[in-house]
Amino acid sequence: MAEDRTVDVSKSEKLNWLSLLPFLALHLAVGLAFVTGVTWHWVLVALASYYVRMFGVTAGYHRYFAHRAFKTGRVFQFLLAVLAQSSAQKGVLWWAAHHRHHHRYSDTPEDFHSPARQGFWWSHVGWIISPRYEATNHDAIKDFSRFPELRWLDRHPFLVATVMLLVLYLVGDLPLLVWGGIIPTVALYHGTFAINSLTHIIGKRQYLTTDMSRNSFALAIITCGEGWHNNHHFHQNTANQGWFWWQVDFTFYVLKALSWVGLVSGLRLPSEETKYVFKTYTDEERARLAEESRFGMSLPRLPMISPS
Ligand SMILES: [Zn+2]
Ligand SMILES: [Zn+2]
Repeated sequence: MAEDRTVDVSKSEKLNWLSLLPFLALHLAVGLAFVTGVTWHWVLVALASYYVRMFGVTAGYHRYFAHRAFKTGRVFQFLLAVLAQSSAQKGVLWWAAHHRHHHRYSDTPEDFHSPARQGFWWSHVGWIISPRYEATNHDAIKDFSRFPELRWLDRHPFLVATVMLLVLYLVGDLPLLVWGGIIPTVALYHGTFAINSLTHIIGKRQYLTTDMSRNSFALAIITCGEGWHNNHHFHQNTANQGWFWWQVDFTFYVLKALSWVGLVSGLRLPSEETKYVFKTYTDEERARLAEESRFGMSLPRLPMISPS
């Protein structure tokens, strides 16, 4: 049987302060905003940099590479991977392999970023900077590991983001580096991490799933549609995560537009039966969902599978 390298149990879960330095430095560099000052112009630049790259995270890392929710050609696939890695959230194969693991073990002791396991901060940021989860398990992502250009990108997880920051500095000096690069990159970290942490803590549960995933309008705005996380855990492989007109899903709107010009195809959608299955729930099931939607219901501590 192939070795599961998603979790390297020979390594401690304890954080390695040295490897944490670039991550901390980027957070501290947000303070450079006091040096550059702020204008509406720079706020708009930051928002554009955030949302364009959030699309890379949601359509790229998540919906395409982790879930194969639509199809595309090899060139656009590579561009999606580049855009995703411009967010500096590690390699595209690493990201997708770990995310598949999350869906397989959601909110069980083996789900390494469940808030039910070691609390909010661990699920939000601890696991991603822990040495134990650094390796890419290529067996979990064989379908994309076969592309040499993706394996190369995965081996150089911070190259795209580093080049991007350098170009921003060369083109627009410190203000563009700070407002086009550093601030939105840090915001992107916490926007994406909120899906691992907050979407299993706050929001409403509409569908019966074995985990504690929830739906949240506010998180959907911050994350281009990923806040409909209960929908997503109920039926993972759809290109849209907002299933009703009021469930805002910017990622899907862009994917739809890209399908009109032929860059992507085969957008997978939920059936009407899947979307409206909650209408068949019994009163007991509805009461259970209402109870589970209470804040904090996902926080009982689960035992750790392999304590360090
Ligand atoms: Zn989840
Ligand atoms: Zn997912």
